[in-house]
Amino acid sequence: MQELHVLNPATEELVATIPAATPQDVDAAVRRAAEAQRGWSALAPGDRARHLRRFADVVDTHLEELAQLEVREAGHPVGNARWEAGNARDLLEYAAGGVERLTGAQIPVAGGLNVTFHEPLGVVAVIAPWNFPMPIAAWGVAPALAAGNAVLLKPAETTPLTALRLAELALEAGLPEGLFQVLPGAGPVAGDALVEHPGVAKVVFTGSTAVGKQIMAKCAAGVKRVTLELGGKSPNIVFADADVERAAAAAPGSFLDNTGQDCCARSRILVQRSVYDRFMELLEPAVKSFTVGDPADPATQMGPLISAAHRERVRSYVPESAPAAIRGEAPAGKGFWYPATVLEGRPEDRAAVEEVFGPVAVVIPFEDEAEAVRIANATAYGLSGSLWTRDVSRAVRVSRAVAAGNLSVNSHSSVRYWTPFGGFGQSGLGRELGPDALAAFTETKNVFIAADPLTESP
Ligand code: NAD
Repeated sequence: MQELHVLNPATEELVATIPAATPQDVDAAVRRAAEAQRGWSALAPGDRARHLRRFADVVDTHLEELAQLEVREAGHPVGNARWEAGNARDLLEYAAGGVERLTGAQIPVAGGLNVTFHEPLGVVAVIAPWNFPMPIAAWGVAPALAAGNAVLLKPAETTPLTALRLAELALEAGLPEGLFQVLPGAGPVAGDALVEHPGVAKVVFTGSTAVGKQIMAKCAAGVKRVTLELGGKSPNIVFADADVERAAAAAPGSFLDNTGQDCCARSRILVQRSVYDRFMELLEPAVKSFTVGDPADPATQMGPLISAAHRERVRSYVPESAPAAIRGEAPAGKGFWYPATVLEGRPEDRAAVEEVFGPVAVVIPFEDEAEAVRIANATAYGLSGSLWTRDVSRAVRVSRAVAAGNLSVNSHSSVRYWTPFGGFGQSGLGRELGPDALAAFTETKNVFIAADPLTESP
């Protein structure tokens, strides 16, 4: 692959053609990054923080431009895209606040002083997916820079434009040349070259579980540090004692936002049997009123899927022989459109087991709390989930019993840049965001300094 052809998923028009990075480009970038990192890590903490705050400010003055790029390359509704650009700015600001707070510990010992330091790793590679190009890039880039590392970002093949613009803005903000570089290219070429490069100390990968496993295996060869944010098949559990109206009103957003191309999508809706019919009655108008259409229109809630190939994959989960319980509308003609789809099914159905990554949810009835937890945990994934109940004890019990990294009670919120995020099981390894985000880009060094005992002079 010599070039990347970026298409607008809503119109299929060519937005840009970008040269694809080769393994030689990757090698040269790693060398430049290593050089830049030496100076960056030697800066006084306050100066490093100031650089990052300036970077955040420059991003802030380009929010609309970045959002419009995201609309064109990813087909995201403009309201979502504005939030995404703002999230990248917020991450930089939040990480900047961590530079002077990256404190070690003083641990009591006999015969001297024992202290710990958080040393930067060196050059970090961030390999990002196409579903949230800006936020997911920033989740890795901002804390890695703040902790004193250089960063090489490889965006997904379909969505390189916002990443390339962020790298230009970093230079405009005065970040040193080479410190933050973007290498657009094919996963198995540029991505693989980063993973294999001996000069890369850590790989932060967000993407499919299949590729994540390969990357983890390759990192093992060099005992390279790795953070993996992978797939999900998250449950949305609605108990009979919940505010069923609220639960039904909130459900569409939890699997239709970003056209379901969300690792946290609540694509398995588990509903207690005694309120099942009522829930379905309420869910239908809520799904059908989710606004689908032109991503540039601020009223639009759902845009197209990322590509024609991805649409075929999503379609394969909705067999012609099993009519959907609820079906929304989607524009006809150009663009990779797919309607909101709700299936009624069983926990073992393919659409209830595999990550669809599209606007498709399966509703499954359950009898009691024990069965709800059993179905919720019958998955290799464990990224997020929601539960709806008015019973506080049940909320505590079930949120402890569901094996997932991010749970919400009576809401679907799960990602805030100042709270930790990551998966159990095959949803990933390590945590991003939150108060410990910078620590994941450091090695802890322990130093003992001997102090001679006081000797009385003769
Ligand atoms: P993908 O695994 O195909 O690609 C992700 C990135 O990895 C891309 O940049 C791609 O070019 C690169 N890549 C592909 N093969 C590679 C290789 N052999 N070596 C190195 N890099 C390689 O995933 P995708 O289709 O872009 O993204 C969708 C997936 O991402 C979904 O499964 C979704 O659940 C997951 N995801 C997870 C999170 C999370 O935080 N857990 C967030 C967003 C997306």
